[in-house]
Amino acid sequence: MPILILIFVFVFGLIIGSFLNCLIWRLHEKIPLIPFTKGGDKWKRSYCPKCRKQIAWYDNIPVLSFIVLRGKCRKCGKAISWQYPAVEFITGVLFVVSFYLSYRVAIYDLSFIIKLIRDWFIIAVMIVIFIYDLRWYLILDVITLPACVIALIINLWLNYSWQNLLISGIIGGSFFLIQFVISKGKWIGGGDIRLGLLIGLALGWPGVLVAIIISYFIGSAVGLSLIAFGKKKWGSEVPLGVFLAVGTIITLFWQTQILNWYLNMF
Ligand SMILES: [Zn+2]
Repeated sequence: MPILILIFVFVFGLIIGSFLNCLIWRLHEKIPLIPFTKGGDKWKRSYCPKCRKQIAWYDNIPVLSFIVLRGKCRKCGKAISWQYPAVEFITGVLFVVSFYLSYRVAIYDLSFIIKLIRDWFIIAVMIVIFIYDLRWYLILDVITLPACVIALIINLWLNYSWQNLLISGIIGGSFFLIQFVISKGKWIGGGDIRLGLLIGLALGWPGVLVAIIISYFIGSAVGLSLIAFGKKKWGSEVPLGVFLAVGTIITLFWQTQILNWYLNMF
């Protein structure tokens, strides 16, 4: 594979990652995403969250600016969050991995492009959910619900049967709905139900099941480690969306391999 394509994909991922940081910040600060709409007068170019001064374009280059500025705002000298370069870098890497995995097995027609766009879309959504749930223990409907519609449309376009997507959507949503009802909303929040639905519509059957199982494995491993190192206590609130986002991306990449590995055990 030409290395130039991979570099191009990586840079594209960095730019999308930069956009995701901006999206996360604006969602949290309730700043409109588009200028000239209702409340759009509050819309501004990217600015430093600490001193609120606008950031020049040359200080807003993904990852590079963070390194050049040594992680500090040029205007006020306060530290810039690690989240910014980390999200940009991870988005770049995940875009490259997804491109590489699709490229190896693809027949180069329109469906290759559509599948790639779907995978990048799901990755981007899961990164936003990961960061938002990690920082603020919240899964936003304004992210999950539109993503459900888009994932459904793209997957139908990719010739998933509507029966498959209906079943996997119901499984994903009801898995969390049942726990929500049993625990009267103590174990999990309503946002998890919508995220379950999204995972179902994004991955189809049996991907939804694989993603949930992997997420619970990772969640238990991380949870037990945090308890062992005294960082958390039994019964601490768990940002489930963080683990579901990771499980979804892993399943998106390696669903076939995971299923084969599992079936070969018997
Ligand atoms: Zn500043």
